[in-house]
Amino acid sequence: MYDVVVVGAGPAGSMAAKVAAENGLKVLLIEKRQEIGTPVRCAEGVSKRSLQRFVEIDKKWIANEVVGAKIYSPDMTEIVLSEEMAGNEVGYVLERKIFDRYLARLAAKSGAEVYTKTTFVEFRRVDGKLKVKLRKLGEIWEVETNILIGADGVESRVGRLAGIIRTLKLNEIESCAQYLMVGLNLDPNYTYFYLGKDIAPGGYAWIFPKGENSANVGVGVLPSMAEKPAKYYLDKFIEKVGIEGKIIEFVAGAVPVYGEIDTAVCNNIMLAGDAAYHSDPITGGGIANALAAGYYAGKVAFDAVKAKDFSEKILKRYDELWKNDFGKKLRRNKKLQEKFLKMDDETLNKLAKSISGKNLKDMSVLAIVIELVKANPKLLFEFKDLLIQ
Ligand SMILES: Cc1cc2nc3c(=O)[nH]c(=O)nc-3n(C[C@H](O)[C@H](O)[C@H](O)COP(=O)(O)OP(=O)(O)OC[C@H]3O[C@@H](n4cnc5c(N)ncnc54)[C@H](O)[C@@H]3O)c2cc1C
Repeated sequence: MYDVVVVGAGPAGSMAAKVAAENGLKVLLIEKRQEIGTPVRCAEGVSKRSLQRFVEIDKKWIANEVVGAKIYSPDMTEIVLSEEMAGNEVGYVLERKIFDRYLARLAAKSGAEVYTKTTFVEFRRVDGKLKVKLRKLGEIWEVETNILIGADGVESRVGRLAGIIRTLKLNEIESCAQYLMVGLNLDPNYTYFYLGKDIAPGGYAWIFPKGENSANVGVGVLPSMAEKPAKYYLDKFIEKVGIEGKIIEFVAGAVPVYGEIDTAVCNNIMLAGDAAYHSDPITGGGIANALAAGYYAGKVAFDAVKAKDFSEKILKRYDELWKNDFGKKLRRNKKLQEKFLKMDDETLNKLAKSISGKNLKDMSVLAIVIELVKANPKLLFEFKDLLIQ
């Protein structure tokens, strides 16, 4: 019998387990993979402030530190943004194989039991509690819990069985392909983003340096707009940009770009991170929000145990917390994403040209938006509802 069972030892699950356990709850964290953190389905970029909110920075899991981002429009016009302005994915490039394990270790140190190679199968409701069926090393067994936290990623089985989320449509998910490449010759002080319908329909390509010679090189595309799988665009991108190096790893994965869901809870159950479609609809970045959501889920689990009430009503406090933190940004960026998807390459080039070369490093986001609108007055109408929010 547990207070809390957490499914999935990614950033959301380990953070939830840590917070619940350090508040004295009896916690079980399960992970279906043999090793936490591998394979890495991530470009590993995250801003410094979003990490510092929840963990003490440890150099062991920082592969690289960058000062900003370089963004390229389809005709390769360059825009340079400072790290503070570039969003939740720019600042550090992590070593997630080590980072994810570090977080799981923090959960264990706080008192959570951690089982790897253990898969969540299903749950049933009995007398206000949940019986959770798990498969561990081929054997099925059942545990009892008051609260189940689904932090089981984009295809969350917990979320679907609970009826909180539905399968995503082809325009609500980015399909990604990524190589880890070595022997590269690049400036490791920046992360690089490339836009354009030919490069990445409905998404973008990226190069996130992990040091002077290696980088995550990837592409995310929207299946509703792409005619070919993401790997096709990745190989074409590498050829176009002339990246020379050796591929030592390949991963494919998906990121939800849904926006904000109405609720991430029902009786006894909360969803956190990609399971609740918490990743950013423009960048696809999800580490920052996964950590925040996990933190809040752990806190609310404690409140529920204290109140001996595991109803949807009390768990709604979790919805309030994550929505106050990043719900508005999910909503706004979903609208922005929809507007960007309608822009053709020519417009993107024009926008980039109007601010390229300006010293954006010292400008606020608002100042940049004003520059864009000054050079492209039609944008004022396009973006008016987003600007006055
Ligand atoms: C190619 C790619 C590049 C990306 N790049 C970035 C980036 O640069 N920056 C950024 O912020 N985000 C990035 N993301 C998104 C980021 O990886 C996710 O948003 C983040 O990992 C979400 O964390 P999470 O804890 O919610 O889920 P996950 O990290 O997906 O963890 C879920 C865990 O649940 C486990 N699990 C699933 N089902 C079960 C089950 N039935 N039983 C037990 N365990 C289960 C999984 O094995 C997994 O370990 C990228 C994603 C992709 C695919």
